[in-house]
Amino acid sequence: MKIDARSISVTLSGRSIVNGASLSLQSGELVGLIGPNGAGKSTLLKTILGLRHRTSGEVLLDGASFLEKPPQERARHVAFLPQERHVEWSLPAREIIMLGRYPHRARFGGPTADDRLAVVRALDAVDGHAIAERPVNILSGGERTRILLARALAVEAPLLLADEPIAALDPWHQLHVMEILRERARAGAGILVVIHDLALAARFMDRLVLMHEGAIAADGPPAEVLTPDLLGRIYRIEALAGHNAGESYLLPWSRRRERSSNDR
Ligand code: ADP
Ligand code: MG
Repeated sequence: MKIDARSISVTLSGRSIVNGASLSLQSGELVGLIGPNGAGKSTLLKTILGLRHRTSGEVLLDGASFLEKPPQERARHVAFLPQERHVEWSLPAREIIMLGRYPHRARFGGPTADDRLAVVRALDAVDGHAIAERPVNILSGGERTRILLARALAVEAPLLLADEPIAALDPWHQLHVMEILRERARAGAGILVVIHDLALAARFMDRLVLMHEGAIAADGPPAEVLTPDLLGRIYRIEALAGHNAGESYLLPWSRRRERSSNDR
């Protein structure tokens, strides 16, 4: 399965936020969407899902218009973790995750054995069993993020768009989630993750899409995207590169020295 967003443009409050951005995701790949704060990453994802109005562009799922499909079918094919983690309901975490199964429900049916299994697999994926019965509105920020990610994983959709799924997580859970996402991609899912941790992005992703000021600045293997030149120009940082156990790594180290007007 493949989703293809082509030349998407979005204007909000009279400002151009996304400007001709194209983004694809297909089964079996783990893709990182990176870029500085305000680049337009969340807006692009919401627009692909039909949650923001686009001024131009199209979204195709296996070549057919995605946004014209009925909402329940869209939700079965493409799962979404929004960046906002606000939950008012004092429902147990397990019930929130079960909401992820809603697109699979028959009109008047309750949860099936399949639904319960999907919830258990999602709880495994986020190491969430110990917090599964707690009301979700009193969880810590990182715990709530893991439960909402579990809800998106419980859909078991062929494609998943996750907006900053590991931003609030401790290192153990960050690594755990990255390993689980990589496993799910190997098993055939297509997963796109908005991520600021460039070290984890470089290590785990098959491909990185770098967004800057509403446009796609680079799209390719991590080593081709996280170049000193692009890190300097777009992130305004310098990074250290190293090797450990046959893997290379990248460590953001310093802000790039701003050039004064005298240097130009
Ligand atoms: P990112 O996820 O890359 O950090 P966003 O897509 O959330 O960036 O936001 C991109 C820009 O669009 C930001 O400058 C933000 O203030 C602006 N923006 C987002 N939503 C709206 C909105 N509803 N109205 C006006 N501006 C918005
Ligand atoms: Mg965002």
